[in-house]
Amino acid sequence: MIQRSYRFRFYPTRAMQQQLAIEFGHARFVYNFALNARNKAWQRRKQSLNYVGLSKLIGQIKKTSRFDFLKQATAVCHTQKLIDLDKAFKAFFDGRARFPKFKSRHGKQSIRYQLDQRHIARTFSNTPGAESLQLPKLGKLKLRWSRRVAGVPKMVTLSKTASGKFYVSFSCEEVFEARPAAPMAVGLDVGIKELVTISTGEKIVSVKSYHKAQRKLARLQRVLARRKNGSNRRQAIRLKIVRLHERIADSRRDFHHKTSSRLISENQVICLEDLNVKGMVKNHKLARALSDNALGELRRMLEYKAGWAGRDIVVINRWYPSSKTCSCCGHKLQTLPLSVRQWRCLECETLHDRDINAANNILSEGLKQYREVHGNCPVWANGQGVRRVA
Ligand SMILES: [Zn+2]
Repeated sequence: MIQRSYRFRFYPTRAMQQQLAIEFGHARFVYNFALNARNKAWQRRKQSLNYVGLSKLIGQIKKTSRFDFLKQATAVCHTQKLIDLDKAFKAFFDGRARFPKFKSRHGKQSIRYQLDQRHIARTFSNTPGAESLQLPKLGKLKLRWSRRVAGVPKMVTLSKTASGKFYVSFSCEEVFEARPAAPMAVGLDVGIKELVTISTGEKIVSVKSYHKAQRKLARLQRVLARRKNGSNRRQAIRLKIVRLHERIADSRRDFHHKTSSRLISENQVICLEDLNVKGMVKNHKLARALSDNALGELRRMLEYKAGWAGRDIVVINRWYPSSKTCSCCGHKLQTLPLSVRQWRCLECETLHDRDINAANNILSEGLKQYREVHGNCPVWANGQGVRRVA
């Protein structure tokens, strides 16, 4: 069994939006109230209030006239918020995160429902063409079911982005189906600017003009700096920036989903580098952050999809000189500035495209590591061998 995640956009009616505003607001209130109570209990009495104590406290305040407005919202969402708070503290004590912060009404909002599995047949259906999801106090959600759902969720999260779009996300346990082995292996070079180079010589570029959006973003940020704090005109620019950020993130996610799905369906072995630091000038932090981010996201998708399909991902050491080595004869250059996109090998005189050469080196280094671990691997066992187009 595997866990597969889904995220769909949904379009609430006006009445639903009103109820959602209550749900988001009250859930946030519960989180902040509990965080405050926990902090105070520790400061005043050195008492550590955990989930059990906090849910008792929330139960009590709901009975008072001052806080009985909380009954307008769904109680299971409050329980989930208290669980989140517990997790946030655990992450803090484990050294994985900072001290939990109060949630703001600006920015992304989210609530989580635990679905009652006894009545699940009434509230959830994944029958193609007749999909539906019903939540307490909201009723049936109007969803765009853009993918087929094979399982039944236990939890459902509703979220609202900073710019006001609504999403439903959940994960289902589904039966694992390994795909037939694809006798191919490739190496990937992931660069900035939403560019992935495959060792076959192909370069996959995001269709959407990423650069254009980046330029627009820079322009809007300059405008924002000129606007007066707290003014309506500043707020309008802020909203535009938020929307643009979301659009850039959406188009990148889409690009990575398409690229990773295609690579997984075509190949048995995919080799890539550990987080990318090569050729990045030290003080050029933004470019590096972007590239690291892109590689990290693509790698995460490749890894979980590889898990579903029974494929192998080989991650090679980031210090391996994939750009500077000639993939034909192995000759290694001393330096190769990032601005050089093409170069000729001094030994064998092959003319190299910088990224394709790097992808080929990543492939051969990855396969070397793969053979060390797997010996005679299934890719070669079916007689077709790994095809490598250099
Ligand atoms: Zn050479």
